[in-house]
Amino acid sequence: MTLIFQGLTTCMICGEVLNKDKPYTGFPAFTANRRDPLYFFNDAALHECCLQQHPDGRRALMVCEEAIRNLPASPHICVVDKQVITSYRKVISFGLLSSDQQEPLAAFNFIILNRDNLCRWPAKALFIKQAVDFISKGKWECAAPRDYLQELIDDCLSC
Ligand SMILES: [Zn+2]
Repeated sequence: MTLIFQGLTTCMICGEVLNKDKPYTGFPAFTANRRDPLYFFNDAALHECCLQQHPDGRRALMVCEEAIRNLPASPHICVVDKQVITSYRKVISFGLLSSDQQEPLAAFNFIILNRDNLCRWPAKALFIKQAVDFISKGKWECAAPRDYLQELIDDCLSC
């Protein structure tokens, strides 16, 4: 969850300082893509009423809840063999790639793979195609120091 300092942090929507006069809330960092349509809400602090009135507010809440449900804290089950991945180093976690369900890449949101099964993942070629297409259309700009979508593509291409 984003850090909120009462009397100091401002609402992302109305710009007013958050204090105990109006209920407020915060979003965790749920996407690394600066060009995601909901990136505005990423790690944002805002008034609850401003959030409710924002045209994308409801969708942002739903996507965020989905991201929290899919946090890597739960046991990691590989999409290929449906087995629990016992070594953390073998976990490949896709996270939220696109909040826009119309994007073909959104079909790969929250995929969990055991690195040992990557080579026989049936959707591998399709994922590479969709991810390369997504990047080439300028829909991806990674906010993290390491571009994890490119790393996922490289991992898939390596076997
Ligand atoms: Zn506000």
